[in-house]
Amino acid sequence: MAQRHLSQPEPVEPPLRPRLADQPSRFVLLEREVELEYKPQMLEALQRKVNIVAEEARATVPECPRCGLPMSYHDARPVTWLAHWGRLQASPVRYRCSPCKQERRPLLDLLGVEPGRICGSLARRLGLLAAVAPYELAARLAHLLLGVTISAMGVWRVAQRLGQAAASYSEALSQYHADSRSVGASVEKAPPAVVLGVDGCTLGMQIRTHRRRRTGTEPLPPLPVIEQGHFREVKTGVLLLPSERVETSPGRRSVVRRFLVTCLGDADQIFRRLYAQLRELGWVDAHTVIVIVGDGAEWIWNRAAMFVHRCEILDFWHALEHAWTFARLRYGEDSAQADRWVHQIAEDLRAGQVQDVIAALKRLRPKSEELRDSLQSLISYYSENAARMRYDEYLRLGYGIGSGAVESAHKQVVHARLRQAGMRWSEAGARRLLALRLLLLNGDWALLDRLRMVSLA
Ligand SMILES: [Zn+2]
Repeated sequence: MAQRHLSQPEPVEPPLRPRLADQPSRFVLLEREVELEYKPQMLEALQRKVNIVAEEARATVPECPRCGLPMSYHDARPVTWLAHWGRLQASPVRYRCSPCKQERRPLLDLLGVEPGRICGSLARRLGLLAAVAPYELAARLAHLLLGVTISAMGVWRVAQRLGQAAASYSEALSQYHADSRSVGASVEKAPPAVVLGVDGCTLGMQIRTHRRRRTGTEPLPPLPVIEQGHFREVKTGVLLLPSERVETSPGRRSVVRRFLVTCLGDADQIFRRLYAQLRELGWVDAHTVIVIVGDGAEWIWNRAAMFVHRCEILDFWHALEHAWTFARLRYGEDSAQADRWVHQIAEDLRAGQVQDVIAALKRLRPKSEELRDSLQSLISYYSENAARMRYDEYLRLGYGIGSGAVESAHKQVVHARLRQAGMRWSEAGARRLLALRLLLLNGDWALLDRLRMVSLA
């Protein structure tokens, strides 16, 4: 090979700019062409069908919901609303009962549309985008996926109306099942055991109670600074069947189905929702064992007592974490000895020998005060939870010993959408969005077709 002098570098070709095709894909153009051509025709066809329903609705005079008497004709002012292919119109008859101050427009009720608003499947698709992406991004997705031009605020409004409907429904359902006269799903196929877990985190909240409004040409006043400590607890509850746990690859487990509930609020509320979901699924009868996996937080065990047949399990990894705290202190950070020591405890606990572990811990004679305190707190933690640490039995019964499924579910419900950088929530905004995410993640999205969107001022 010929040698080159370092001072004479090889001649270098200028870099080639990557080339774009001169035209968009021909097929893409064809698709768009057909869409543009047929959109007005679809809108017309839809309007014709709406007109037929309007004709049918004319025949019925509604009764006053208050007094039960037939209401009287008031007017038939035309209204419009926005759907995927464009704006639709109708002249719904407005009926009134003056003494009761009641008003009805039966056609609008029948169609499930709201004058002047985005309605129908377009509204539901926008709600879907808002459930998975921040509002700005959802608006951009709406443009790319649906060919709809809408502002982030527009997406936000739709999400609020749909989310409120979903949130009210799930709240009402949990209130319904809290009443002993409620009727749950058939428990004929109630499983022998259900695993129940709860996880939580905090959301950053907005401090302002009212949205800022622009008055005249004045610019909006700046947002107040978020103070530390302005947070709200959000909890996720998970239900799954131990029999549906599968080992997808050695050591990797996943579940076929799981059902989620969520709420912004206290411990009682999340347990009320879990109970309602159990009833909806027909998953709890007189013999069902409710397996509750917890991290040791007292509030979970306190509420768990509502289930007569229950099996309380202290999350295995939390149990080990406590051993680690002592081991690090005793043997030093990153020491192989600490590693071996915890490993041995893990094996013993897995084998169901929690009493032996406690006895062995009690025989230790640590030298420093700090070590003695740490050891004592470990011994107390294991002693208090010993009845929840029969891991050999839980494994034999197939209940599992960790709360990993619960933690990952919580991250999916909350973190993936509501805990992105800089996000702040209003109480109502968070509640509505969580309700939409739950429908999506529980495979219940179709339920939205049967919920009337809530009109919000
Ligand atoms: Zn009346």
